[in-house]
Formats: sequence, C-alpha cells, structure tokens
Amino acid sequence: MTEKFAGSFTQQEPIPEEGIKAALRVMRNGRLHRYNVVDGEEAEAALLEQEFSDYMGSKYCLAVSSGGYAIATALRAIGVRPGDKVLTNAFTLAPVPGAIAGVGAVPVFVGVTESLVIDLDDLKERIEQSGAKVLLLSHMRGHICDMDALMKICDAAGVQVIEDCAHTMGARWNGVLSGRHGVMACYSTQTYKHMNSGEGGLLISDDTEAMAKAIMMSGSYMLYARHKAAPPPEAFETLRYETPNMSGRMDNLRAAILRPQLRDLERQCAAWNARYKIVEEGLQNLPGLTLIQRPEQEAYVASSFQFLLLDWSGVAINEVVSRCAACGVELKWFGGAEPTGFTSRYDSWRYAPTTPMPTSDRVLRGIMDMRLPLTFSLDDCALISRVIRQEVSAVYQAHNAAADEVTGV
Ligand SMILES: *Cc1c(COP(=O)(O)O)cnc(C)c1O
Repeated sequence: MTEKFAGSFTQQEPIPEEGIKAALRVMRNGRLHRYNVVDGEEAEAALLEQEFSDYMGSKYCLAVSSGGYAIATALRAIGVRPGDKVLTNAFTLAPVPGAIAGVGAVPVFVGVTESLVIDLDDLKERIEQSGAKVLLLSHMRGHICDMDALMKICDAAGVQVIEDCAHTMGARWNGVLSGRHGVMACYSTQTYKHMNSGEGGLLISDDTEAMAKAIMMSGSYMLYARHKAAPPPEAFETLRYETPNMSGRMDNLRAAILRPQLRDLERQCAAWNARYKIVEEGLQNLPGLTLIQRPEQEAYVASSFQFLLLDWSGVAINEVVSRCAACGVELKWFGGAEPTGFTSRYDSWRYAPTTPMPTSDRVLRGIMDMRLPLTFSLDDCALISRVIRQEVSAVYQAHNAAADEVTGV
C-alpha cells in the first residue's frame, strides 16, 4: 500500500509566546524605530545585537533588514569596488551572486563537490586565474567545507573571506561556530532560516573599521553610539563623513521577536538534527541514491535534507519528483534546465559570465533537496523517508530494466 504524507513543507513553528509578548510591548509603546528610545531605555535591536555577538563570540554585531543586505554591506565594508572580481560558490542561492552584482562586482564561480561543499582544488585554480582578493563563501544548505584548509588557502593568497551563514546559524566546524573564520559573516532571519522574523539579517565581525563602515551604511545617521555591540565612537571619527547611508536597518519589532528565539537556538538545532538523522537512516543503502557524507568535524544544523541521484536522466528524476509529490513529499531538483522556485544555479544567473563546469554540473544535475521544518514530528520524518525510498527504487528499477532491454543485457 502506498503511504501518503499530509504535512506542509513550508509550515514553520509559531513565534514563541515570549516573542509575541515582546512584540506586543513594542507595538503598544510605538517605538518601532531602533533609534527611537526614551531615557534609560535600550532598544530591542541593540539588545539583539549584543546577545548575538555574545552567542557568536564576536566583538561586533549589526542587525539589518535582510540576509542579502548583510552580504552586500559586508562586501562594501571590506572595500569591494565596482568591477572587482569576487569568488563565490557555483551551488548557492540567488541572493549570493545577486549581492555581488548589486555592488557592481563580478561573480567568479567555484565548483561544488559530491559532498556539496566548495571544491578547494578548484578554488586554488580560480584564485590564481582571476586574481580575485575576496571570497564570498556560502555554506549552502548547511554543508561546511574543511574550513581549516580553506582558510589556509585564502590566507596564503591574501584572499579575504566573507561567510554566508544563512544555513549555518548555530553550526560549527571543528568546535568553532560557523561565521568565526572569515573577516565578516552574514546571517538571515527570513522565515525559512534558523530564526524567523519574516525578513531580517545579522552581520558579525571583529574588524573595527569594517563594522564601523557597515553601521554607517546601514543608516545609523550620527546615532551609532546607541549601539551596544559596535566599535567605540572614535572609530567613526572620519568614517562618519565619508560613508554613504544605504538604509537597511532592522526595527525593534523584528528584534523583539528574535531575542527569545536566540535563547532557544541550540535546542532548535538539536531538534532539526534529530529529524535529519531519521531521514538519513531511512535512506541508507538504496541503489541509485547517494547520501551526503558529512565529516566528523562538521557539527551541522540540518534544517533541510539533500541527497544525490547521480547520473540519472532528467526524465527519471522528474518521475521521482512527481511520484513523491503524489504522496505528499515535496522534493526540489536543482538540476532542472529552468530555474524554478528557489532552485537556480550558476548558469541560471545570466548577468554573470560563466563557462561550463562539467564536474560540478554532474553534481548539480543530481541534487535533490527538501526542507525539514520543525512542525514535522519524528514519525513524519520516518514516513517521508519510506515514501522517498519506495519511489526512488521503483523508478530506478523501471529505468534500469528499460536500459537492460535496450542494450540487450
Ligand atoms: C536566504 C539566503 C540568503 C539571503 O537571505 P535573505 O534574508 O532572504 O536576503 C543568502 N544565502 C543563502 C544561502 C540563503 O539561503
């Protein structure tokens, strides 16, 4: 009998009660703008920045309007200029190359491995070929590369690293929180990430000058002294005259919703991983399906699940997608010829120059992706893995039988 799943892959948990109360407090006092405080009051946005920098162990933090804004601001703050080349992942989400193009710079794509991380050999080559001095590293879908090896390569070549941690808030490499390797790191608090304020972003750094610039750009006017996780006022002395305002502040309402979620983050991360492990277990040893190998040093936060259907035809993959969909399981395929929904890849972004990347193309063509929202129970996850298992094997067997007929085996 075919089982059916009835849950929604886009349904997140409600905002915690404490966050709702805090939001009501802000709405009742009407002081939603982060610099609108009364005597003795600390703005929710400033408190969130302090709490996030405490959690991350960074000197500074800035709360902004989106993850994409955080990335663009980081690029500008470390000095990326129009026309500069910026290395980034061939496998990432559209806001990443979009932020590079948005500052007038040019993305240089670096390949992806079967572990779904940046290809470090390709990175070395592209650094040499392009002469780029900045890498915008996207920990796409929460997969973290060997950060020690990556930093060695980049440090040796004088390449500054900005980390896109939209999917790694709370994750670690070798005990170090994701976002603590690069000069700046960017987080998103958009609904589908690890904390939910609808839209929002966080930027962290230990670099005094870059963070002072970022704060000025975000629209602090001359009110930067009202920040709590910011460089001292002296750091703004000349920057305050030289840095254009490109407003992208976070408001107190969003910050109020996020503060209780930050206190819960570690528990939420464990809940995601419990779900991930059940799906992973359920898909072990399935002919035709490749699970993603995750190294011991990677303490991931698996808010989504990926597997590979390597070297499958597009027809067969589409069959898996539609058969799973008929059973209520929403798989997204990153390999389709046309970008759909949130799936797109380096060659979909036609504003950026690209040349074919055959090794990465083989991986990209096989990437299957699904969200694991915390509204799914552990039993839901077991059911989902049974559905995928059944449909993948049915299609695999049918196509292999057909191939055998053609070749006369
Ligand atoms: C969501 C996301 C972003 C950008 O976040 P927004 O807040 O939506 O702008 C950047 N990188 C990746 C990999 C993302 O998934």
